Amino acid sequence: MTEMKDAPTALANFLSCIERDTQVLADFQALCDCGGRLAGSCGEEQAIQVLISTLSRIGRGKLEIKRNKHVLWETDEFSLTHIESGTELAATPLLGTAPTPADGIVREIVDVGLGRPKDFDRLRHLLPGRIALVRHEYPFMSDHVHRNTKSDMAEKAGACGFLIAFQESGVGPISGSSSGKASEGIPSFGISAEAAALLAQSETGFASVRMLCLGRSVERNLPTVILTLAGESEEMVVVSAHIDGHPLGESAIDNASGLAGIVALARAVASDDIRLRRTVRFCAFSAEEWDLGGSIRWLDSLSQRELDNIVLNINLDAIAGDPVLTALTSDFEILPAFLTEAANYADKDLQIFEPTKSNSDHVNFAERGIPAFRLLAGFERPSSALRFLLTGKDRRDLVTAKELNDAATIAGAVLFRAANASREEMAKLKARRRGD
Ligand SMILES: [Zn+2]
Repeated sequence: MTEMKDAPTALANFLSCIERDTQVLADFQALCDCGGRLAGSCGEEQAIQVLISTLSRIGRGKLEIKRNKHVLWETDEFSLTHIESGTELAATPLLGTAPTPADGIVREIVDVGLGRPKDFDRLRHLLPGRIALVRHEYPFMSDHVHRNTKSDMAEKAGACGFLIAFQESGVGPISGSSSGKASEGIPSFGISAEAAALLAQSETGFASVRMLCLGRSVERNLPTVILTLAGESEEMVVVSAHIDGHPLGESAIDNASGLAGIVALARAVASDDIRLRRTVRFCAFSAEEWDLGGSIRWLDSLSQRELDNIVLNINLDAIAGDPVLTALTSDFEILPAFLTEAANYADKDLQIFEPTKSNSDHVNFAERGIPAFRLLAGFERPSSALRFLLTGKDRRDLVTAKELNDAATIAGAVLFRAANASREEMAKLKARRRGD
């Protein structure tokens, strides 16, 4: 704890306030009580009320909800039936999937294995008119191939449907967003490991399924919950987390953990003895799981002056479930060093990853010239509890209070530094990495 002792008293007080916050687990559990919190659902609306009442209790700052229209796709009816046995298979329509015709489609399955480019190259000739079956990969690896890339390869090869399977049995189907926007693309379901084993190509030929998915486009007024704690300056640090999740489980790691993190940070910033130079704005976005739409619409509503005033975005998305924390950065030259030094003040380890991974709301800030990073647990740790993201197992029991406190403390150290650093230092942070 040497660095901690040497750090200025105000910082030490601020960090110990976060590290010893005893309410963070209860806040996290209250959000988990709202279920998976699919964007536009009753569960998400309930979580917004929980968040507002928790942030109101802080008793400081300006609390507001801004709503923006989003077009989502709601599924009315879906099923996946194994033709040979007549078995109904456990499946979840991917968010925004294309529908099937009213009586569904009956087609053969081609098992494309992991569904990497070389797998599609090998089996391309079999795919026209059939349904591609691929496997979900742990999403937080540097060489991960995203579900949407696999779905695009399937569609380009002429497949008329897409199934992605979780790789571990006993977990059930996987969810996820699809690459389609409402009715574009091909019908796409997440399925279980057991269903994939039944459908995998055998020596006797291809298995066949009936895939049915009916739904409609709906317009929803989705919220951004904003708490602004004014500092001495108009310049601000924006701390964000997404509210929305997936239909299965409690979306606990992804992202009740990040929401509980911003509440703990807001409590610390609002405490009596904390004075920060810059303003801190806490934003909880919806529709992150829908092409990061909530943060895009909120950023688009700001003036250029307001955008210029944002010195840093700290985005908390899946910050617990594993003790190893990584900052996924966004190609700003000195941001990695800035973050590492801040974590050192908190006497915590923070891994750094570059280049930009477009997997959360921070990329929308970075695209507008604002230094931004995503704080994430479990990067490059495929056996961590984060492997259960998007499944029914993403529940509260995967997360400990210590993980929540530690992640919030690291974020707090960065927040404190960004809120108090000189104008010159924060201006330098806006420089892009050389070669970009
Ligand atoms: Zn997330």
